[in-house]
Amino acid sequence: MERTLVEDTINKIGETITLKGWVNTKRDHSKIVFIDLRDRTGLIQIVGTGDLLGSLKLEDVVSIEGLVKARPEKMINPDLTTGTVEIEALKLAVLSHSAELPIDMSKETLEVELPTLLDYRSLSFRHPKIQAIFKVQAVVIDAFRRALMEKDFLEFQAPSIINAVPEGGSEVFKVDYFDHEAYLSQSPQLYKSLLTTAFERVFSVNHIFRAEPSATTRHLTEAVSLDAEFNFIESVDEVLDMEEYVVRYIFDEVQQHCQKELALFNATIPLMSEKFPIIKLRDAQEIIFERTGRDCRTEKDLAPDDEREICAWAKEEKGSDLVFVSHFLTKKKPFYCYPDPADPEYALSVDLLCRGVEWSSGGQRLNDYETILKNVHEWGLKEEDVALYLQAFKFGSPPLGGFALGAERITMYILGLKNVREASMFPRDMERIDLRLSSAK
Ligand code: ATP
Ligand code: MG
Repeated sequence: MERTLVEDTINKIGETITLKGWVNTKRDHSKIVFIDLRDRTGLIQIVGTGDLLGSLKLEDVVSIEGLVKARPEKMINPDLTTGTVEIEALKLAVLSHSAELPIDMSKETLEVELPTLLDYRSLSFRHPKIQAIFKVQAVVIDAFRRALMEKDFLEFQAPSIINAVPEGGSEVFKVDYFDHEAYLSQSPQLYKSLLTTAFERVFSVNHIFRAEPSATTRHLTEAVSLDAEFNFIESVDEVLDMEEYVVRYIFDEVQQHCQKELALFNATIPLMSEKFPIIKLRDAQEIIFERTGRDCRTEKDLAPDDEREICAWAKEEKGSDLVFVSHFLTKKKPFYCYPDPADPEYALSVDLLCRGVEWSSGGQRLNDYETILKNVHEWGLKEEDVALYLQAFKFGSPPLGGFALGAERITMYILGLKNVREASMFPRDMERIDLRLSSAK
């Protein structure tokens, strides 16, 4: 008999169907046994005799023929999409046996510490709440793509192996590259910018690699970056407008397609005012000083506490979970950042913060060849390390800008996860590449 998916059972009351999936939970009352069967579309309750279902173990893979029955009113389970029906099992075939489970998968939330959850990553993916994280992430990435394709951006594939690190080398992984030294790319920044001089509007969904030597809850050593860059801009405002459009598009899609997933985490889409507020770094630092007495007014960037504080301010004063912070010190930014003509000590570089943390960095970039070349020298870089970049800007290059959003951070802060590792299928950090490095030989 053709397979019916769990989510389709609610339309098949009175029919005999075949379901295939995993035994998610089992309640054994000896003569009568209840199981929740799981497939990619959800969970459904199956009831059968002890003779038929009694020997099943959790995570066994089964094919069950059964009759779809409407549940009596008082037995309806509102927490389950299929809570209005249950299946009376008639025939069973076990397609694959599972070994004894090392962790308890039956709870609504996996009650294990994150390291254990990651030690059993292949298994933890099967938990509905873990699956929900990656469904949301897939929608986020898909929405990013579609938002930009609707604006006529071309998707490109960013390289991961690069020959030099003009943006500074302390947080970069070295690679043995035949007889040479190469590096893993920290960002496709230079590639996306140079591509605008040919394609005008480009974006990429790519992996970035950072040898972050600290263990924070928001840094991975390999992360997914959502990068966009475009030219023929009149001002940096166009970059911010594009970013705001993309972020709103992402939220709309998550709102539309991830109701079930948001509910599992009791999560809501970030609060948005009519327009995302923007504040200069200096003004943000003043506000933080006034609100907390903490003096960060000479710092070049916002520390984690400052990011939380300015987000709290934006929520209270502007009714927004999101806030742009602009005008970082030009000299502390990479060589391609565009100084504000009105105040060149500060650059037209802009971070987007949400729910207390940085989600993205972006801004306007220099497009004048001579100025870029001058900066390359002033920043102490080698011309040959940025040769391809310079080449692009030597031969006609319109004003440009762009931004990069972290896919794991977005997922983490939409769902209110405690650690960015939860939002990465295979998180890499100082202590882990799939397995704990300390346990590797
Ligand atoms: P932070 O200051 O939070 O360390 P950053 O300024 O170094 O971030 P950018 O180079 O601006 O990061 O990268 C753009 C975006 O990519 C960040 O805003 C963030 O969302 C994401 N991102 C950067 N580094 C990491 C990382 N190590 N792990 C996870 N996401 C990251
Ligand atoms: Mg940044």
